[in-house]
Amino acid sequence: MRAARIFEDLTLRVEDVPDPVPGPGQVRVRIHAAGVCGTDLHILDGMIKPDPYPMTLGHEAAGVVESSAQGTGFSSGDRVAIFNKLFCGTCEHCLAGRNNICDTEPGQLGFNMDGGDAEYVVVPARNLVQVPAEVDFATAAVLTCAGMTAVHATRLSGLRLGQTAVVNGIGGVGVLVMQAAVRAGARVIAVADSDAKRQLALSHGASDAVLAGEPEDFAGLPAAVRELTGGRGADVFFELVGTTDSMTAGVRCLAKGGRFVSTGYTDQPLSVHPIEFILSETSLVSTVAATRQDLADALRLAASGAITVPIAGRVALNGVADALNALRERAVLGRQIIELA
Ligand SMILES: [Zn+2]
Ligand SMILES: [Zn+2]
Repeated sequence: MRAARIFEDLTLRVEDVPDPVPGPGQVRVRIHAAGVCGTDLHILDGMIKPDPYPMTLGHEAAGVVESSAQGTGFSSGDRVAIFNKLFCGTCEHCLAGRNNICDTEPGQLGFNMDGGDAEYVVVPARNLVQVPAEVDFATAAVLTCAGMTAVHATRLSGLRLGQTAVVNGIGGVGVLVMQAAVRAGARVIAVADSDAKRQLALSHGASDAVLAGEPEDFAGLPAAVRELTGGRGADVFFELVGTTDSMTAGVRCLAKGGRFVSTGYTDQPLSVHPIEFILSETSLVSTVAATRQDLADALRLAASGAITVPIAGRVALNGVADALNALRERAVLGRQIIELA
């Protein structure tokens, strides 16, 4: 089969590799669509190192079950989305439904097991979620990363009906967090680093969209948010950018009792005096990826039309390097898709 592989010298090559063979409890999926994610850029830059090299890239994939062992509950032809993180199913956190923080960390697609930027992938059956008929493969693929992350962050944010949420960063995740927050009953103020992303936010449920990308813009963001909220501030600030400037601004945008939700990050630290949290009894909530249930819920939301995934472009497997370059140039509106079937 064809697969996009990252090598130890950080070159990315599409090459022929043997078709993967499913073992006990595993299913082979013919990939139809795979999402191009910012995390893949970190791998291409060597900031995240797959183990071992070479590794087939990709942790956002959806397709059709090709072969499965008896007792897996899946049959050939089933349309499935792949939950990209393996989990043990028996540790304290898995049993509590928090399989995103499984104690045994058995592996993740595209990081330490071959990923979805390939014609086939083999995964444990429990990592598959059926894709509703109303949801296409491209949408399902994006939901396996950005979409489920958005559902998870919104759920953990504690957002309630009538509250105000700021979503900072209108990339693949942000545009879905916005929609999930609107569905949770919030008014959403988007913060985008380009006018095109501002427009994208306004067309996907944001009530207001503020332009901020440079450090000086973020210095003025708390005042802008207070002006839009009658001086009150935001109940929740979803941080998907993760620079010191944007995070400092986020904490200062909060209303009393508000929650700063840390999901996106860079190599920069969060640096605020604790008094900035203490006096207003605000809190920091962190979220990492999502649970398998969040993926199932994201698919259900997409099936009902409650969330839509803007597809920025479609490339063949050979176009993966170009797609990653476009992402690096911050020139992508929504999510790019690799089409494999
Ligand atoms: Zn991703
Ligand atoms: Zn576990």
